[in-house]
Amino acid sequence: MRLTVIGTGYLGATHAACMAELGHEVLGVDVDPDKVAALQAGRVPFHEPALPELLAKHTASGRLRFTTSYEEAAAFGEVHFICVGTPQRKDSEGADLRYVDSAFASMARYAGPDALLVGKSTVPVGTAGRLADTHAAEIAWNPEFLREGFAVEDTLRPDRLVLGVGSERAEALLRAVYAPVIAAGTPVVTADFPTAELVKTAANAFLATKISFINAMAEVCEATGADVSVLAEAIGHDDRIGKKFLRSGVGFGGGCLPKDIRAFAHRADELGVSLAFLREVDAINMRRRDRVVELARELCGGAVLGARITVLGAAFKPDSDDIRDSPALNVAARLRLDGADVTVHDPEAMDNARKAFPLLGYAVSAEEALVGADLVLHLTEWPQFREISPDTARSLVSRPRIVDGRGVLDAAEWVAAGWEFRALGRPAPG
Ligand code: NAD
Repeated sequence: MRLTVIGTGYLGATHAACMAELGHEVLGVDVDPDKVAALQAGRVPFHEPALPELLAKHTASGRLRFTTSYEEAAAFGEVHFICVGTPQRKDSEGADLRYVDSAFASMARYAGPDALLVGKSTVPVGTAGRLADTHAAEIAWNPEFLREGFAVEDTLRPDRLVLGVGSERAEALLRAVYAPVIAAGTPVVTADFPTAELVKTAANAFLATKISFINAMAEVCEATGADVSVLAEAIGHDDRIGKKFLRSGVGFGGGCLPKDIRAFAHRADELGVSLAFLREVDAINMRRRDRVVELARELCGGAVLGARITVLGAAFKPDSDDIRDSPALNVAARLRLDGADVTVHDPEAMDNARKAFPLLGYAVSAEEALVGADLVLHLTEWPQFREISPDTARSLVSRPRIVDGRGVLDAAEWVAAGWEFRALGRPAPG
C-alpha cells in the first residue's frame, strides 16, 4: 500500500520506518524542513534504538521518502497517518490541538474522496468526532502505545491494535495496513471514536497512577522508617498487582504521561466528570522531585549554595534523548537556582539538555562529572550508571554522598565503599 505519515517526530518517524518494514511504500511529511532533510538522508534526528538501521534500510531502497509538501502527500497515497504533537497548552492543563487541527485541515484540503485520515496522536476524547464533522474526508483513530526506547519493537510487535473506525471500509483499510502484525497474532480491538481515544488516555492514566501509588507509599515509608523497595517487592508478588511500574523513584516525566493526565483531567472537567484523583497523581509525582531537592539540601548540611553536585542523567528515561519534562533536569535546574554548581552527564541527551538548560555544567563522561563532587544524584536509570564502581567513584569525588533517585543501585555495595547513601522511600542504611 502507499501510506503517508504526517508529523515525523518520535512517533511519526518510527511509524513511517516500521510501515516501510511491513512492506508499504511510505512518504513522511513534516513542516520542519531540517527534520525532513535529516530523515531523507537516512539520519534519525533523535536517539531511538534500532530506528537508524530501519530508516537507512528503507530510505536506501526508496520505499521510504520524506517531504514538506502536503500536496505531494495527498497525491501519493490513500491512507494518511497523522502523528503530530499534542503538547500541554501554555495557558491551561488542556491539550494544545493546533497541530492536529492544522494537519487534518491541510490534508483534507488536498486529499481525494477515497482518502482515509487516521489520527495516531493522543487527543482528548471527542476530537475525532469533531474532526469528522468538520472535514469531508473519512477519519479513523488508531492511538499509539509505543514506548520510547522500545519504539520499533512496540510498533512491529504491539500488545494490541486499537482501530477507532466509523465504517467497514476504514476498518478493512487499517487491517490491510497492519496485515503482517495481525497475522503474527496481535489482538485487534475495534471501537467507536470516543472509545478508541479513551483507550489511550485511560492506559496512560492507569500507568501514571501505578507509579504515583508506589511513590505515595514511599512518602509513607519516609515518615515511618519503612522500606518501599521491600514493600513493592512483597505486594508485586500478588498477580493482581504485578511488579511492573512499581519501582519507587523520582517519578515519571517525558512528552506523554504528565501532559496526558493533565489533559485527561481537564477534558473530564469539561464533560462534567471528576477525574480529580489524576491531579493528586500528578502532585505526588512532582513532590518526588521536591524530595530529591530536599535530600540534596539535607546531605549538603542545610543548603546547596556553592556545593558541587553531579547529576547522572538528563533524559526522562534511559535509551532515549528525550528531555521533555525530565525529572533529572528539573531537579538539576532547581539546585542550580539555589546556587549549587551542577554538572550533568547523560549518555545520549547532552545536546538536547545543553540547548534547553545552557546554564548547567556538562561533562562528557560519568567519570568526568564525578570529579570533585560534593554530592551525586542518580536520576535517570541508564544501565551505564549501574555499572559505575562505587570504589572508583569514591576516588573521584570530594565527598562520597549519593542519592539514588531510581532505586536500582546496590546500597550495601555503596555503603561498603564508604558512601553516605540515600534512596527515596528507604531508611538510610547504617
Ligand atoms: P514530536 O514533537 O516528537 O513530533 C511531532 C512532529 O510533528 C514534529 O516533527 C513537528 O515538526 C511535526 N508537526 C507539527 N505540526 C505539523 C503539521 N501541521 N504538519 C506536519 N508536521 C507537523 O512528538 P511525538 O513525541 O512524536 O508525539 C506525537 C503524538 O504522539 C503526541 O500526540 C503524543 O502524545 C503521541 N504519542 C507519543 C509517544 C511517544 O513515546 N513519543 C507515544 C505514543 C503517543
